[in-house]
Amino acid sequence: GPHNKGSISAIASDFRAIRNTPQDNSPLQIFVKAKRKINDIFGEIEDYVKDAIDYMHVVEKELSILNAEEVKQMETFVNKVHGIRDVLARDHMKVAFFGRTSNGKSSVINAMLRDKVLPSGIGHTTNCFLQVEGSPADEPYLVLEGSDEHCAVESVGQLAHALCKEKLNESQLVRVFWPRNRCVLLRDDVVFVDSPGVDVSPNLDEWIDKHCLDADVFVLVANAESTLMVTEKNFFHKVSTKLSKPNIFILNNRWDASATEPEFLDQVRRQHLERGIDFLVKELKVCTPKEADERIFFISAKEALIARLAEKGFGSSNSLAEGFQNRYFEFEDFERKFEECISKSAVKTKFEQHSQRGKYISNELRNILDKLYHDAQLLKEEKLKQRKDLNDKINFTEQQLMLITQDMKQKIHDMVDDVGQ
Ligand code: GDP
Repeated sequence: GPHNKGSISAIASDFRAIRNTPQDNSPLQIFVKAKRKINDIFGEIEDYVKDAIDYMHVVEKELSILNAEEVKQMETFVNKVHGIRDVLARDHMKVAFFGRTSNGKSSVINAMLRDKVLPSGIGHTTNCFLQVEGSPADEPYLVLEGSDEHCAVESVGQLAHALCKEKLNESQLVRVFWPRNRCVLLRDDVVFVDSPGVDVSPNLDEWIDKHCLDADVFVLVANAESTLMVTEKNFFHKVSTKLSKPNIFILNNRWDASATEPEFLDQVRRQHLERGIDFLVKELKVCTPKEADERIFFISAKEALIARLAEKGFGSSNSLAEGFQNRYFEFEDFERKFEECISKSAVKTKFEQHSQRGKYISNELRNILDKLYHDAQLLKEEKLKQRKDLNDKINFTEQQLMLITQDMKQKIHDMVDDVGQ
């Protein structure tokens, strides 16, 4: 009947709405919404400041209760608010990936981006820092450090070639601008940083100072086929001396290799987990055992990428090893926990300062306007008092006049009487 038809089309439209906005229940929305909100608030503050300045100019011209200093101070707030809004527009969530060469850093990033964005594999060792960020352009391009030139890259191969061609210092940063509309994470302002292997560099301090101080989350991509190496641990020891309680995830990658030895699976997993928790809790002291348990995952980035590309019609996922489903769920679990962590951390670190400064500006704004109001009130009272003094004088004169005239009348009366007698 018509009722049925109605509800089916309602369900269909609900379904479409859900499908079209799969990102809206993502924890990243915490950051996205907070950013929008704080930007709106600064927009309002900017309007208030401008209104106040217009008003002050009028008062300055017509009354003498304002000095130029106060107007000037108010005008500096416009620049301050503009500055904050500029920084705000560039604020993003940043995740940095570290680990030994070939552990699968680029593969993890590609799997998260659901596309072959970064070159990975033999001969494609990342030999500099690569930052992937969203861009409004339809085509990807890259920008080398110290240059403004947009180099078009149509494919991963080209990107790899472009990177090999340039003589790059390993601490240098190459920014890859990838179309926002190709990936939800980029659209929601997550920026990915891939690093050269921690095993190849003596410049870890420089790396941290240059690339890590503003990172919200660190991901250690470890190899599940071996234990954590001293070089990997040392790097994070350095990080945690420079940053207070960094958010660190540990991915035991290449977990698909364990499928060939199922008899050791649980044992190996338990051992990696124990050691990972010890590292985060006892060595680095960055979290509690319970938190650490939510920060360590066993995944296969290679499989996750294959599955996601197959979903989009590129290649096939038929050859994935035994236990793939579990590893894939765990990869999704990691992504969810990661999104929660990064958006909360970024809101706190990026917006707390802005909101302090916003509070300061609106307090100053209020103080200036309060003083202006107070001075205007005084002026009004002064004027009223002046008017009252004047009235008193007039009343007195009138009274005097009356008395005098009465007196005169009396005197005339008496005079007439006198004359009459
Ligand atoms: P990076 O140097 O840390 O960026 O490592 P890459 O992402 O370039 O990976 C190095 C090689 O390991 C590539 O050939 C990947 O295909 C392979 N690889 C990455 N992740 C996995 C995985 O989970 N399982 C397996 N079997 N191979 C992987």
